[in-house]
Amino acid sequence: MAFSVQTTVQRALLRTSRQLLPPSTTVTSPASSSVATYATAAAKEANREQNDYDLAIVGGGIVGAATAYKISQMGGAKPLRIVILEKEKEMAMHQTGRNSGVIHSGIYYRPGSLKAALCVQGLDLMYEYCDKYSIPYKKVGKLIVAVDDGEVPGLMNLLKNGTANKVRDLQLIEGSQIKEYEPYCRGVKALLSPHTGIVDYGLVTRSMGDNVKARGGEVKLNYEVSKFQSAPEDGRLLIFAKDGRSVSCKGAIVCGGLQSDRLAVLSNCKPTPKIVPFRGDYLRLKPEKRHLVRGNIYPVPDARFPFLGVHFTPRMNGDLWLGPTAVLSFAREGYGMFSFNLRDTWEELTFPGLIKLGGRFLRFGLGEMWRNIYTPAQVKLLQRYIPEISAKDVERTHAGNRAQAIDSNGDMVDDFIIDTAQDEMGKKIVHVRNAPSPAATSSLAIANHIVNTVKEKFEFMK
Ligand SMILES: Cc1cc2nc3c(=O)[nH]c(=O)nc-3n(C[C@H](O)[C@H](O)[C@H](O)COP(=O)(O)OP(=O)(O)OC[C@H]3O[C@@H](n4cnc5c(N)ncnc54)[C@H](O)[C@@H]3O)c2cc1C
Repeated sequence: MAFSVQTTVQRALLRTSRQLLPPSTTVTSPASSSVATYATAAAKEANREQNDYDLAIVGGGIVGAATAYKISQMGGAKPLRIVILEKEKEMAMHQTGRNSGVIHSGIYYRPGSLKAALCVQGLDLMYEYCDKYSIPYKKVGKLIVAVDDGEVPGLMNLLKNGTANKVRDLQLIEGSQIKEYEPYCRGVKALLSPHTGIVDYGLVTRSMGDNVKARGGEVKLNYEVSKFQSAPEDGRLLIFAKDGRSVSCKGAIVCGGLQSDRLAVLSNCKPTPKIVPFRGDYLRLKPEKRHLVRGNIYPVPDARFPFLGVHFTPRMNGDLWLGPTAVLSFAREGYGMFSFNLRDTWEELTFPGLIKLGGRFLRFGLGEMWRNIYTPAQVKLLQRYIPEISAKDVERTHAGNRAQAIDSNGDMVDDFIIDTAQDEMGKKIVHVRNAPSPAATSSLAIANHIVNTVKEKFEFMK
């Protein structure tokens, strides 16, 4: 009888520990105090085992998920115990689930930059991943179109970059050839990138999470990381959630997207570069006008900005999106035109880097705001490419916030950044502080890069 009481209590406590209640949670039982003491100790042990990992990955966007996936696939005598900690109720709820869904080919990025190399590798790795796990994608191709002679030098620079970056099968085509690919599009010259594609990055990310689980890893959702600490008894890294739960591990990789600067500060990294959110709103072409566009049509971007400009992008569900704009957002994770978060806004408006940047790009910023509010102004831009489109053919749809890293001089940080604090606890944590577009395309190549970096830093991964 006593045995059965013990196991019942133990089971109840184990169940409780599996639900990861905060350590302060008390469980009452009708059993005697010695049985309860025994069971509490057993539950504590089980709880500890449940929450002990080799490696934690903070952030269940595509960069965190791809990193966890790569690590879960590594060979070795003893597989690493890994966990993804994600604050939302699902993976991919921020940038990854709110982007254009384009698999970029690597044309835009400065030759020699990590961004260029990882995008070119990332495209192949993304297609391979989708083939391996039967995730649908479409290689719809892309045209970057110069609509007048003034835009041709910019287009030629892109050709030079793309060629230096070894983008496959990139071609310069004449205005007369544009209609073979896009019958309704006008322009004087264009770059054709046949391997550019589209995919649902949310689906890819959730599949990566499932693959991590299939290899024995875990994904803890609703786990908002709020503190890192070194355990006094054994020096392991403790990662606390806002609700009091904790996990312990030997090291962590933090891929926090729009919150990456705040998470970096939690482990004593410097506060800059700071994340400033730029919202991109999309319009959707009404179904009766869907025939006007076949693949991706992009403008020649303004080289002063990291954004690619408003483009025409088909979606996996058959829709066609037009956008995104680029306006300062007053809420890092708010997606409405009037979304507002006091802390986010205060930090933005008191950040000297943003004030300097705003001074330099005030005109551009105001223009973007105007086009964002007044749809006919946005449509006017689109008509440069497809004159048949009119304001009544579009409707507002989705929005996404880009995590734009800005340094204290007011410069937008363009390349991928990995950061680690130098104190004892900080050395156990690697932060991905800047993973801007095309980081969804590049995610598996970024993951390889991160794995190589952490292998050097983390003894247990050697
Ligand atoms: C409008 C827009 C269009 C884009 N278009 C493209 C495109 O076509 N192609 C392309 O390749 N790229 C594109 N990008 C860029 C791409 O989406 C991002 O570079 C990429 O998704 C970044 O992934 P991430 O995992 O770093 O960030 P995120 O997807 O933002 O993921 C970060 C995760 O961390 C979690 N997190 C944050 N704080 C905590 C915490 N305290 N505890 C636990 N979890 C936390 C968040 O909830 C989130 O899930 C676009 C981006 C935007 C916004």
